[in-house]
Amino acid sequence: MPSLKHLPAALAFAVLAQAVQAAEQQSADLALTGATVIDVAAGTLVKGKTVLVKGDTIIAVVDDKAAASYHPRKTLRLNGKYLMPGLWDSHVHFGGGPELIEENKHLLPLYIAHGITTVRDCSGDLPDTVLAWRGDINAGKMSGPTIFTSGAKLEGYKPLWKGTIEVGTPEEVTAALDKLQGQKVDFVKITENTMTPPIYLEALAQAKARGMRTSAHIPVQLTVGEVAEAGLGTIEHQAYLLRASTPRERELTTQVAMGKITGKEAMQLSLESFDANAAIRSFRRLAALGTAVVPTLNGSFVTAYLDKDDHAKDAYLQYIGKGLRATYDWRVQRAAKDDAAAIALRQATIEKAASLLPLLSQAGVSILAGTDAGFLNSFNYPGIALHDELGIFVKYGLTPLQALQSAVIAGPRFLGKLDRYGSVAENKAADLLVLDANPLEDISATRKIRLVVSRGVVSNRAQLDKMLADTKTWVATH
Ligand SMILES: [Zn+2]
Repeated sequence: MPSLKHLPAALAFAVLAQAVQAAEQQSADLALTGATVIDVAAGTLVKGKTVLVKGDTIIAVVDDKAAASYHPRKTLRLNGKYLMPGLWDSHVHFGGGPELIEENKHLLPLYIAHGITTVRDCSGDLPDTVLAWRGDINAGKMSGPTIFTSGAKLEGYKPLWKGTIEVGTPEEVTAALDKLQGQKVDFVKITENTMTPPIYLEALAQAKARGMRTSAHIPVQLTVGEVAEAGLGTIEHQAYLLRASTPRERELTTQVAMGKITGKEAMQLSLESFDANAAIRSFRRLAALGTAVVPTLNGSFVTAYLDKDDHAKDAYLQYIGKGLRATYDWRVQRAAKDDAAAIALRQATIEKAASLLPLLSQAGVSILAGTDAGFLNSFNYPGIALHDELGIFVKYGLTPLQALQSAVIAGPRFLGKLDRYGSVAENKAADLLVLDANPLEDISATRKIRLVVSRGVVSNRAQLDKMLADTKTWVATH
C-alpha cells in the first residue's frame, strides 16, 4: 500500500478501501496446519503446508509461514496427522418404499462419520426424495454428503425393480431422457431386468447424443465390447467383466441370445474358459473407449458367502433401521434357495471377478470405488462398507494408492468434476479427511479418522462419534 499522507483524502480512502477488501478476500474461516498432505494423484506426501478454507472452498494451500496473512478465524493443528480429500462412495442406493424415507435419511450421517463426503446414488425407488436431498444439501439446508444422482433408472416394461421409468420404444427413451434432463440428473442409470437389448443400445445412444453420462448393468445378450462401443460410462459390478475375459465371449453371448444356454451356464463356461490375454485385450478396449468400472465387490462377497458367515450379530446392524434391515431378507432368502453347485458358482464368480483388478489397472481402466450399500444388499453397511471395499481392492492386487485414487479421483473424473474435487488444492471443495495414520502404507488407515470437513464444516472425532451414537439411538427408538 502506498504511504497515505501524501495522497488527497478521497484517493487515500479508495486505497484503504481496496486494502480492506483485499484483506477480506484473503481472510480464511479455517486453517488446517501441521498435517502431511497426501497428493492422491501423484502418490506423494507434502509437508509444511497449511490449507485455508473459506465457506465450502479451499482458498489456498500455502507454506505454513504464509498462513497468518489469511487471518484464519480458527486454526486446527494437526501435527502427525494425514490430510487428504474426502472419500467418494460411487455406488449407493436409497430406497425400500416411501415409509422408509426417514430411515434412509438417517444413513446420511453414517457416510460423513466414515469420511465419505460424496456419494453417487445409482437409483433406488425414492428418486424424487433423493433429488430433493441433493438440492437441500447443496443449498446448505440439510447436512449430509454431497449427492450426485441418476434419478429414476431406465428399465424395460414391468421390471422387478420399483421406481423405474419403463421404456420399450425409442420414443419412450426420448421422453424418459427429456424428463431426467429436466430434473438435471447427474447421469443416467440403466438396468437390464426386462429391458430388451435394442432398447438398451438405443438408450445408450440417445444419452450419448445429449452428452449425458451413463451407468449400467449389461444384458446377457450383449458383449461388454458392444456396450462400451455404444458409449457406456460405467459398468456397475465387476462380475460382468468375466464375460469379456474369455475368447468364447461372442459365442456364449449368441447362445444366450438364442435361448440355448442360461446366463448362469454362460457364467460357468466363462469361468472355465478364462484367459488372461483375452481379458487384457477387452480391458484395453474399455480403457480406450473411456468406459470405467465400479466393482462393488464388498456386497457381492457378503452375498456369495452367506452360507458360511453369520451376520446376525454384526455391530453395524445397530445403525440400520428395522425397515431397511427387513429389506436385507430378500437376498438372504434368495441365497438360501441355492444348492451346493449354485453356492460354489457364486463364490467362484466373485473370487475370479475380484482377481481381475490388477488386470484392469494394468490395462488403464478407471476403477471407481462403490459399495452398492443402502437397501436390499444385505449386511453391506453404508459408510464402513467403502473401507471394506478399499481393503478388498488391496487384498486382490491394487496398491493402497490405486485404492485411494478409486475413492478420490475416479468418481469426479467420471462426472467431469475434477476442477472441483480430487485434490487438496486452491478452488477445490473443502471436503477433507484427516487420518491418524498414512493410508499409502496401510489402506486400513482410512478407518482411523480424526476429523472430517464436509463443505467447510468441521466434525472432530467426538462429533463424529456423536453422529454415530445419535444414529444408533434413533434406530433403537423407531
Ligand atoms: Zn446397485
